[in-house]
Amino acid sequence: MFLARMNYLQVEEYLKTSDAIVIPVGSLENHGLHMPLGTDFLIPDEIARLLDERSPLLIAPTINYGATDDLTGFAGTVSIGTEGLIALLRAVCDQLYQYGFRHFLILNGHGGNTAAIQAVGSHLYRKGAYLAILNWWLMAGQLNPEWAGGHGGGEETAAVMAVDPTLIKTEYLHMGENIRNDLGDDLPYGAWTNVLYKGVSVTVPRQVRDITDNGWLVHSFKGDVPTRATAEWGREMLSAMADYIADFAAHFTALPKR
Ligand SMILES: [Zn+2]
Repeated sequence: MFLARMNYLQVEEYLKTSDAIVIPVGSLENHGLHMPLGTDFLIPDEIARLLDERSPLLIAPTINYGATDDLTGFAGTVSIGTEGLIALLRAVCDQLYQYGFRHFLILNGHGGNTAAIQAVGSHLYRKGAYLAILNWWLMAGQLNPEWAGGHGGGEETAAVMAVDPTLIKTEYLHMGENIRNDLGDDLPYGAWTNVLYKGVSVTVPRQVRDITDNGWLVHSFKGDVPTRATAEWGREMLSAMADYIADFAAHFTALPKR
């Protein structure tokens, strides 16, 4: 059930049966020229749609903006920063808490959001509630190592193909990451905004646009190239995510009130 389609009496009825709610959280950000800017919320939206087909869980409207400061060098990317996401998500959860919700399932589409979601989870825990962080792309890779992937690689490309294949700009699929060692060859590119020195990865925060003009970066998932993506893979993977979340939620929502 989608909260946005209900009236308040239906919400009151739901709360007599469950105090759980799913909140998809995404990001509006560059994922490389072959991908849409909405990738990180379009995929959670699709998982939520599939979840709704197999679960009575209440699903809140998606938070489409997230913490993505590294990518604001690419036009159209909008970051509300970690502090902005903490403020927004905490306000949403606190309001829902007032109505009686105590089990929050955050269906997250973007790694940069994790710190903010964790902060809100700690805040809710102190108030006697539980929050679970469901990072779909990491969960998918744990369910099936062949699905594992990074930012704009095969995993996310396959997932967007499952949402709508016309969203993939196929003329750019074969374009490489086109990474440059922007900090010099003595401190070559390592992963995301990390450099590699003597085999050790060191984070040097900066703009991804300094590193590449394309913008898909699969860093630790070197084999995760966009060209391996298929819509069939995406559909199978997103269905598996919805199945997993439905099963997980059955146990998570049974955690007793504290
Ligand atoms: Zn993404």
